[in-house]
Amino acid sequence: MPGKEFWKYKTLDQMSPAEWEALCDGCGRCCLHKLEDRETGEVSYTSVACRLLDIHQCRCTAYAQRFQLIPDCMHLTPALVSKCHWLPPTCAYRRILSGSPLSWWHPLVSGDSGTVHEAGISLRDKAISEAYVDAENLMPYLLPEGAWEGDAEPCTAGRHADGPQQPPISAPEFSDRAE
Ligand code: SF4
Ligand code: SF4
Repeated sequence: MPGKEFWKYKTLDQMSPAEWEALCDGCGRCCLHKLEDRETGEVSYTSVACRLLDIHQCRCTAYAQRFQLIPDCMHLTPALVSKCHWLPPTCAYRRILSGSPLSWWHPLVSGDSGTVHEAGISLRDKAISEAYVDAENLMPYLLPEGAWEGDAEPCTAGRHADGPQQPPISAPEFSDRAE
């Protein structure tokens, strides 16, 4: 059982398994395929999601078996968060690690799992499953640079006052992965 407002006083290392899971905002962004430029190391997101992601719910459809079914699915741990520079700026793990507060739309703050969708943070209606695209050619699905910049700003309007991850994948002109 997560402690009351645990994210305000616990580090990632100090969180219980239940608290760690609860910290995920359910945005689904980390389940998008990414490409890494071999020359610069720059990671770019695509709008193509892992085949196990429910695009509407933004949840993994096989969370308990994800590592068996998708070998590239990464087990995010406190130690890995600092290395996963490709995590989106809105990611709750990244924000807590950097000392930033959770935004108003985070379900732990709002008390409503729907606010991550209402705020436009989640992938809902914005992504396509890899089941419907040519996985060997993701270039047409690259998101523009800086597409998510500024998303992490907390709301000042007073509206309100399980973690999945897919590392960069390979493409002919890109390297295999970045951690
Ligand atoms: S791990 Fe981070 S980016 Fe992925 S769904 Fe959870 S909060 Fe969103
Ligand atoms: S948690 Fe892993 S297996 Fe599940 S949808 Fe996300 S990337 Fe795919």
